[in-house]
Amino acid sequence: MYYIGIDIGGTNLKAGLVDEGYQIAATKKMPLKFESMEQMGRTLAEMAVALVEENGISRDQVASVGMGFPGPVDDKNGVVIKTVNIPIRSMPVAEMFHKHWDLPVHLGNDADCAALGEFYHYEDKNIESLILVTLGTGIGTGIILNGKIHTGINGCAGEGGHIVIVHNGEQCTCGRRGCWERYASANALIRQTMAAMDAHPESAMWGLVGGAINRVDGKTAFEAMRKGDAAARAVVNQYLKYLGEGLSNFVNIFQPEVIALGGGVSHERDEDLLVPLQGMVFEQSFGREADRHTKLVKAKLGNDAGIIGAALLGLQ
Ligand SMILES: [Zn+2]
Repeated sequence: MYYIGIDIGGTNLKAGLVDEGYQIAATKKMPLKFESMEQMGRTLAEMAVALVEENGISRDQVASVGMGFPGPVDDKNGVVIKTVNIPIRSMPVAEMFHKHWDLPVHLGNDADCAALGEFYHYEDKNIESLILVTLGTGIGTGIILNGKIHTGINGCAGEGGHIVIVHNGEQCTCGRRGCWERYASANALIRQTMAAMDAHPESAMWGLVGGAINRVDGKTAFEAMRKGDAAARAVVNQYLKYLGEGLSNFVNIFQPEVIALGGGVSHERDEDLLVPLQGMVFEQSFGREADRHTKLVKAKLGNDAGIIGAALLGLQ
């Protein structure tokens, strides 16, 4: 049997056929064109049908379709509550899909789907809890407890980017001040790097970007630090502290078996990122004396996590 997963992003729709070994057997991608919710529902169904037909799979070889949306969903009633960047409000996706194909439909939030993908792909198949923390424009988090996505009563749980780590700190888009993602996302790291460069004209970071501050990315400070640049080392050290504060909060609340770190920043060398974070989180969290501790690891699936996780909603 196969499971179809569709990852609904702000710019693209990505669909994948996932096999029983949780691997992607085929994919299909198209730009997102939103005209109406009706048209969107039809497009999702047509995409699923095309994916099986183009790959010579019969419809009855497909167990279910799962879709990951950028916002809260009501999976029980097959409704997407709302999404960011796409004007979807209370959209009955399951009902719309069933006009074209009577296949079980499962809905998830995209960050939760990515966490579910990492959960099923984790090397130890006996784990029951995993939290995925993705460092990007903001911080996306997905929480898996007892083998299931923790959605909360309204589909809005797992917004870990918006836990406050600095009282009265930087203004966040969510309305609060001092949210974790204002300090520990990839975008935050870029802002912190630029501020350090402004304060340190002598920094080697300037050389790495050819003197153009708009070419700063999430790697700039890490690279300059490895060349021995003091300003860059200070940026990285402070960034790791911000990251470590939030991770320790998660450990203290959930004591999950695994926290997986995803996003571009997570690809930094282990000795520069994962190892210092592991030490910090261990020191700052309860359970130090316990015989089992949360493992902090690098996420495995990258951009495919959303498709795989959406497809595997059918296993929940
Ligand atoms: Zn916030």
